[in-house]
Amino acid sequence: MASNSKHPETLVLHAGYRSDPATNAVAVPIYQTTSYQFRDTQHASNLFGLAELGNIYTRIMNPTNDVLEQRVAALEGGVAALGLGSGQAASLFAVQNICHAGDNFVASTDLYGGTWNLFANTMKSMGIECRFVDPADPENFRRATDAKTRCYYAETLPNPKLAVFPIGEVAAIGRSLGVPLIMDNTAAPVLCKPLDHGAAIVMHSTTKYIGGHGTSIGGILVDGGNFDWEAHKDRFPMLNTPDPSYHGAVWTQAVKPMGPIAYIIKARVTLLRDVGAAMSPFNAFMFIQGLETLPLRMRVHCDNANAVVKHLGSHPKITKVIHPNVMTGEARKRAEKYLSRGMGALLGFELEGGVEAGRKFIDSLKMFYHVANIGDARSLAIHPASTTHSQLTPEEQAQTGVTPGYVRLSIGLEHIDDILADLDQALAAV
Ligand code: PLP
Repeated sequence: MASNSKHPETLVLHAGYRSDPATNAVAVPIYQTTSYQFRDTQHASNLFGLAELGNIYTRIMNPTNDVLEQRVAALEGGVAALGLGSGQAASLFAVQNICHAGDNFVASTDLYGGTWNLFANTMKSMGIECRFVDPADPENFRRATDAKTRCYYAETLPNPKLAVFPIGEVAAIGRSLGVPLIMDNTAAPVLCKPLDHGAAIVMHSTTKYIGGHGTSIGGILVDGGNFDWEAHKDRFPMLNTPDPSYHGAVWTQAVKPMGPIAYIIKARVTLLRDVGAAMSPFNAFMFIQGLETLPLRMRVHCDNANAVVKHLGSHPKITKVIHPNVMTGEARKRAEKYLSRGMGALLGFELEGGVEAGRKFIDSLKMFYHVANIGDARSLAIHPASTTHSQLTPEEQAQTGVTPGYVRLSIGLEHIDDILADLDQALAAV
């Protein structure tokens, strides 16, 4: 019964696993093994030939990782998932799985800096062109699309601007042209289900909220199973024509009896096989622990963030608070439409005193950690102009939404009185 649930609180505890088939252990065991004995030669050749799905070698699949993959797929409403060694690996695989040298894809300008570098530089060196467009107008995605465009890519809740991406609008444009939308949902797990709004693929850096405790680096890709790759044969030859790297398998046909998993199975048995950016079973175990309390934590993260937004809104040294809850117009409408379960726990604010005030504020915090991270159980802060964005010109900083006095907070799970007290004492020192 539990596995039929649509409620995230239940899915994260029960989807994909009841007890260990070998020992009846209730907690998911860490299968710290590299390889798996085949029953006989027929079994081995069935597994290699994909006539049967099963364990061969931990670079490609692992029973602990499998539970995490099933749970995140269930949480996002997808058909299957693939755990990877980091969020960066997940972003790369998401695109590279369907975008080869000579192809292009269209990405939102509002992206995590690491993703930006990956797309603008490393993928360029691989012959893949990323066309960056402003997501404020969804039609920009249509304008940048041509016959060689293989996907769209964006973040649900990109910082520092925190303007929610128009998921349904861009997904609809993509579907009319045969282009799937890939969403990085790292900042809004549980709060948003991009697949429900027409996205085809979801990725997460599990390093953030899914892990939730700042212990492990990982990433995951979820296949929505809702994109008709066969209907767009010319755009997706890599899924519709024989793959020489896997004895001529045609991915849309090879795994059809197992469901609409052509995209994710190709990523697993070709990209992961070849590149080897695997998630360790130990980290998968850590993410399973994190996942169990994720819906509960997201609720408290959001409640605390709302209280901080309210508190800072009236502070005399703060000129602006940036959070979906205080946005107006189209941004507000999008936030309400796509973040129906909470507006997230990332927020920014601008200090009147510019760079010096930003530095002083950060240096005066006593409880908040000063780190380049988000989504930890602890409250975190950073001053982008003097750190993550310091190599950009002031104009480039402004384009990304970073002003000299901008401070970014990732609100944690501490008691709200203690969070506000630390912010107040640091503001008093500015
Ligand atoms: N996507 C977003 C939105 C992120 O914030 C990050 C990391 O900060 C990543 C992807 C990359 O994830 P990882 O650090 O796990 O490689």
